[in-house]
Formats: sequence, C-alpha cells, structure tokens
Amino acid sequence: MAQHFLLSAQARTLSLAAVLRMSDEEAEAAFRSIRWPGGKPVCPHCECPTVYDCRKANGAPRWRCKACRKDFSVTSGTLLAFHKMPLRSYLAAIAIFVNEVKGKCALALSRDLDCQYNTAFVLAHKLREAMASELKGMRLGGEGETVEVDGGYFGGYVKPANHKENRRDRRLAKNQNGKRQVVVVMRERGGSTLPAVFKSESALLGFIVSRVAKGTRLMADETGSWNDLAARFPVSRIDHSRQYSDTAGIYTNGAEEFFSRMRRAEIGHHHHIAGTYLVRYAQEAAWREDHRRVANGEQVQAVMGLAMACRPSVDWCGY
Ligand SMILES: [Zn+2]
Repeated sequence: MAQHFLLSAQARTLSLAAVLRMSDEEAEAAFRSIRWPGGKPVCPHCECPTVYDCRKANGAPRWRCKACRKDFSVTSGTLLAFHKMPLRSYLAAIAIFVNEVKGKCALALSRDLDCQYNTAFVLAHKLREAMASELKGMRLGGEGETVEVDGGYFGGYVKPANHKENRRDRRLAKNQNGKRQVVVVMRERGGSTLPAVFKSESALLGFIVSRVAKGTRLMADETGSWNDLAARFPVSRIDHSRQYSDTAGIYTNGAEEFFSRMRRAEIGHHHHIAGTYLVRYAQEAAWREDHRRVANGEQVQAVMGLAMACRPSVDWCGY
C-alpha cells in the first residue's frame, strides 16, 4: 500500500512505459474487461448478449447486436463515446493524468499524446467528469464523525494598470470584476472530500446541510461565514490568527491541505481554472486527495471504470 502521494514501489503498479508497450488488442481487452463482466460484449442499446464481431476496415473493434441489429463499440453509450484516437491513447492519457500529483495541463497532454490542444483539453475534462461522478450524491459525516470545512477564493484577478497614477485600490468592491468564486470543501477525517463552488458565501449553508449528516461535529476557522452553521451542527472553531491547531484536536488542516494542492495546480499547471469549469477542477483535486494512497494501476482502473459507467458527456460529447 502506498504511504501517500509518494507511492511506494509496491504501489507503482502501472507505468506509462507499460501502457505504451501494450498492443492494440491488449488495450482493447483492458477496456472490455472493465466495461463488461468477463470482457464479453453486451449490446448497450437493448442489453442483448448475442452479438457478432464486426470489425471496421481499419481493425477497430465493433460489434453488431443480433436482436436490434445496431452496431456498437467498446465505448458506445459511455463518456468516451465517439472516440477518435486509438484506445491505447486513452489508456495512456488516463495513466498520464492520474500519475500527476496536482494536475496535468492540457498543453503538456497534447504534446504527450501528439494531438491538438483542444482534443487534450476536452479529454482532460472528460476524465474530470468521470472522477466527479464518484462524488454524486455523496454524504459525509454521521454520529461521532468529524468534518472540516474551509473556503477558498478563485478567479476575479484584476490586473494593475501600467502607470501608477491609473492604478485603483483592488480591495474595494467597485474596482473588482465580479468574477471571483468561492470553493468550499468539506473533508471528513478518515473519510472523503467533497467540494462545491458558489458565487457568494451566503449560499453555502444549504449545501452543507444537504451533504453532511446530522450530529456530525464540524471544524471551521474564524471566518464569519461559518457562524450560521452553529444552528445546525456542533461546531468547533479555530482562530488561525492565534494558532493552527489546539490540544483538543480542533484544526482544519485537512481542508487546508486540499486548498494547498488545488492552489498549486492552478498556479503551476493550469494558470486559469476559475471560469465555468472551476467545480470540475475542484472535484479532480478532491479525487486525487481521496485516492492518494491507492496504487496507480488501481487509480487508472478506477478512472476507466468511472468513464465506462458514465453516460456521454453533456458538455463535451461530439468533440
Ligand atoms: Zn441490441
């Protein structure tokens, strides 16, 4: 088992080199075994188990259903439907993506896979969507459990003017551009991480109440936005201007760690994450936190499994 993001030798079970050594048949078999039990194709349109092997002229796998006569491939009806690159490239993309600790920028992915930047960008977002599907409907906490909550601001950067006399005080609301969003993370001690994105802090309470079980002990910092939580949960506060953790085990360091790595993903890899898809980057960061002790081969299998279980992407289908 891995210690942390620093995977031990036993937990480094899948390297990019191993993926690149695979033949097209082996990559196909890997996808088949993850999508269907025993790797035996089943029609995704009518679930008929009797299908004929009906490969395309270029050798790409395709089957035809005996009952409904429709054709399908190993990715039909999944997140990777209508794929254009060979299956091995998707396997390589997933391996590259999960092997990064903080994130993989689309520019580097496009160089690794020798595809266009747009292709890499869309593919990375599909993988984020697969990771996010694991968080759907997730509820944290319970009697005797502790959940740390914290918030972080992303986006809304206003560039200072060139000449000193034209510069404005960027702390004032009238000089901001209104694009700032707040990411809230709820992190259960010894459990999972669940992020969400809001335009303002006033909307958080409803979300936290809907996702955290009654009776959970919450830990929060001294920020005023958490004051309302006390009406619903037992809340312990830690004042960061005085100390970061106290002897009674009151701290929010788990939630801070999440933001520490997400912030570095923004600065070091993506540069701009605070647009429409901020929640996807946050969900990716949460998935990486929660699987940081899992062997990388299992991480690849997990992402493949999630991608195979998802319906075609609403945002990115057809790209
Ligand atoms: Zn069928």
